[in-house]
Amino acid sequence: MVSERRRLPIWGLMLMLAAGPLGAAELSLADKLDLLVKSYPDSLASAAGGRLHFKDGSEMAIDDGRTKSHAEALADADIEDMLSQIYPMGPCQTRPAVNFDPGRIRVDALFRRLYGADKQQVRRRLVKINWFGAGLRVNPAQGAAEALRRVQAELAALPARLRKPAMKSAGTFNWRLIAGTKRLSVHSFGAAIDLDVKYANYWRWSGGKPGNVKNYANRIPLEIVDIFERHGFIWGGRWYHYDTMHFEYRPELIAISRALGNDACR
Ligand SMILES: [Zn+2]
Repeated sequence: MVSERRRLPIWGLMLMLAAGPLGAAELSLADKLDLLVKSYPDSLASAAGGRLHFKDGSEMAIDDGRTKSHAEALADADIEDMLSQIYPMGPCQTRPAVNFDPGRIRVDALFRRLYGADKQQVRRRLVKINWFGAGLRVNPAQGAAEALRRVQAELAALPARLRKPAMKSAGTFNWRLIAGTKRLSVHSFGAAIDLDVKYANYWRWSGGKPGNVKNYANRIPLEIVDIFERHGFIWGGRWYHYDTMHFEYRPELIAISRALGNDACR
């Protein structure tokens, strides 16, 4: 369990309100769950009584009641942990604090429900989208493939020098574990894309260790990031444990970011 509501004294609340948009920087877990349910319309029906309810009548617990370190939350997340770090969005780079990895805390079991339970199930669902002349296999569930199609159309309208790192993809669907972990990558579900590896920075490649990574100079234009985010994708360049060619479809985190006005440019 990660604390959701910071209880503020009245003066704290007044300060927040005086500070403008920051005054909205409170969302209850119920509000976040509401955005989660709306973000995955193919599968989720509601969140009530401490459970996520799926359209097929099945359920999943929201909070296991455990307090976790960042490493523990990554290794064994519940739904509440998954929504605990608020993703910043907008065409500006952010310098994440140690272990601020919004989106890396994921519940594998949820993704298996949203996109396909195993490699074969996911593979059967994939559709091909055109990516600057190449065919990429993406999962149409939850609107992911359609969102990536819209991203490509907008990228195509960027000036050539800006869109270059996006024109070649290093991959979408790939049923595999995240390096150094027992957790499935979102590539397993066909709901993530890697851009041109030539422009990529990845914390492991630069000799980083969990909780202790090296600095890097980002080479992915923020115009590209902005387009992906506006269509429901989060960017691995906003993680302390960065992966700058990586974008994954996480409309719930984008919706929560929008609701809170968590502007990367502020
Ligand atoms: Zn990736």
